[in-house]
Amino acid sequence: METLQTIPAANGELKPLTAREIAALNAQFEHQAPEEILAWAWKRFEKKAAIGTSFQGSGLVMLHLAKMAGLSFPVFTLDTGLLFPETLELHKRLEDFFGWKIESIRPDLTVEQQAEALGPELWARDPDLCCTTRKVLPLQSKLRELDCWITGLRRRQARSRAAIGLIELYALNGKGGPDIVKLNPLANWPTEATWRYIREHKIPWNPLHDRGYASIGCMTCTRKTARGEDERAGRWIGFKKVECGIHTFMSPKNDFQI
Ligand code: SF4
Repeated sequence: METLQTIPAANGELKPLTAREIAALNAQFEHQAPEEILAWAWKRFEKKAAIGTSFQGSGLVMLHLAKMAGLSFPVFTLDTGLLFPETLELHKRLEDFFGWKIESIRPDLTVEQQAEALGPELWARDPDLCCTTRKVLPLQSKLRELDCWITGLRRRQARSRAAIGLIELYALNGKGGPDIVKLNPLANWPTEATWRYIREHKIPWNPLHDRGYASIGCMTCTRKTARGEDERAGRWIGFKKVECGIHTFMSPKNDFQI
């Protein structure tokens, strides 16, 4: 469907989306399949939209949906230097499986340099600062290259994600910063549908999922989860922390959040 949001201005350029347009698109996307939402993003942003993934269930589905639709979005992942070997191995397997290069975004400081600058095992003392250094700042830098960030977030992953929109608008560098569109095409997907899709399409997955890890981050901050726990309950053991900050550091520019 041709909408206002895909019609170029007289000079051939698309005007930035307003919060009102984002709200209208969000209502529209509630009735559309994820591949239709991805097709809209490709038409609107082409390679200024990128998929960010940590290779967990819905991120894998997102890559496959884009690949099957012939939408060659750039793909990136955050490599903190503290990932499980299984995750690093999966990165290579996925590049082979999809035939796409997956860019590793790394922090300025190695783990050793961070220990020298901020003390050893920062994750055990101040995980917010550690996540800011190793995830949020590198992501912020990557997002400055983009107009649209596509994620695999789902509402049922955790209470902290229950109200995400299918499309959202954020100010990248604080209130006055440039806008970035965040797209969550799988927001409505339940966990079972995600894993059914992965198995049906024989997409490689992280073997740690089979060993009881529902959500997989850094080795230092991830444990197995028990039946009935939130998917993200195994992250940052001993801290009241459920998000690393990459999905919460930007200011929303919409007041329609559902
Ligand atoms: S998940 Fe843990 S180790 Fe990884 S960046 Fe955050 S605090 Fe640091």
